[in-house]
Amino acid sequence: NLGDRLRNAFKDLRGKGKLSADDIDNALREVRKSLLEADVNFKVAKKFIADVREKALGEEVFGSLKPDQTVIKIVRDELTALLGGTQTKITLSSTGLTVIMLVGLQGAGKTTTAGKLALMLKKKGKNPMLAACDVYRPAAIKQLQVLGEQVKVPVYAEEDSHEPVEIARHAVDEARRLGRDVVILDTAGRLTIDEALMEELRQIKSKVHPHEILLVLDSMTGQDAVTTAKAFDDSLGIDGTILTKLDGDARGGAALSIKAVTGKPIKLIGVSEKLDGGLEEFYPNRMASRILDLGDLETLIDKAKTVVDEEEMKDAAQRLSKGEFSLDDFLHQLHQIKKLGSFQSILGLIPGMGQYKEALKQIDFDGKEMKHLEAIIYSMTPEERRKPEILNGSRRKRIADGSGTRIQDVNRLVKQFKEMKKQMKRMRNGKRINPSLLGNG
Ligand code: GDP
Ligand code: MG
Repeated sequence: NLGDRLRNAFKDLRGKGKLSADDIDNALREVRKSLLEADVNFKVAKKFIADVREKALGEEVFGSLKPDQTVIKIVRDELTALLGGTQTKITLSSTGLTVIMLVGLQGAGKTTTAGKLALMLKKKGKNPMLAACDVYRPAAIKQLQVLGEQVKVPVYAEEDSHEPVEIARHAVDEARRLGRDVVILDTAGRLTIDEALMEELRQIKSKVHPHEILLVLDSMTGQDAVTTAKAFDDSLGIDGTILTKLDGDARGGAALSIKAVTGKPIKLIGVSEKLDGGLEEFYPNRMASRILDLGDLETLIDKAKTVVDEEEMKDAAQRLSKGEFSLDDFLHQLHQIKKLGSFQSILGLIPGMGQYKEALKQIDFDGKEMKHLEAIIYSMTPEERRKPEILNGSRRKRIADGSGTRIQDVNRLVKQFKEMKKQMKRMRNGKRINPSLLGNG
């Protein structure tokens, strides 16, 4: 992945007293290669490298930062700039109705995003309405209706109509009549861009004057997403983009090129299939840190705040610092993590954890595995949970029998716990990363 590759590029800089132009060029050659392999647009990568080089050469070593950290910081800042610099929110009109029109190719995630966005706005105290303007596939209307039911937001649809422009107009009228404050138009897509689709979208645009035309892009399609963005912007005019499926194995290049190529900001990102929490606001600095695997602590903290009891977290942290972190805490953490959403997407937010992604992918946090973990821990005595090191062969056998699992399962859990404890200690001691690299940028 891009983060691993970039980190490797900086490895040789570590431990150097002062950086020469050669050192920097060597590192940047690797950075350039990784960007291209991550599917970053060629021109974008070229300009990016030139910018970083200029800054790095001109820069005296920052305060207490080491040379490799200095370059990482420059790269992080330039990535942030490339991603748009500062956050750009969706504009909601403070009085009256805001019309948001979602456009994009088939399968990009328009309909799903419409549902997620409705829920996100609802949580902010808005009264959204959804409108089904995709009349070409009968299932499309049904899909939106099901989503609407799940997030408890009304859906405007005309089952027998084949006039998307009319439906859009009627939907806006209806939203006004019902006193809703946002209407989200879910439009049709095609497999590839064609003139008929663009004409239809332009018609809707000219009839309902949306406040926001947001292009939904599948980040897994890499360079194609960039081409699509350019085409939609040229032919329809867009206000921003929503990048979906960032939880997948996308190589990240699309995100890095879209803003640079279209000049239009990324406003939201899709990070899981879930309606609740599957859509996030886009922060360039957080994304840059995520790509470099510097961790995205702000997002993690934002997420954690909504579900995790802060006092409990402090408690756990304190016990950890005294070496008292127990299997009870472990289980508790697993439950918290489960509440936070998909474990994969959480992992990417923790500094330095990117590299453990593969190993941790083995754990299925929603299904059987999680139940096993619970059963095993519940089958232990309180003392065993506090001091797993006393778990000898016969105790492990008893626990396996008691929890209906195998000894191997118990062994694996104990091992995972030890690893996690070690890892958390290391993170606490800040060995991996200089905190000044994190955060605002
Ligand atoms: P549309 O044709 O543009 O309306 O696309 P859909 O909304 O029907 O989405 C196509 C598929 O992508 C569905 O299976 C969605 O569940 C999935 N999807 C959409 N957004 C995301 C995302 O952010 N993450 C993941 N993992 N899947 C997504
Ligand atoms: Mg759809």
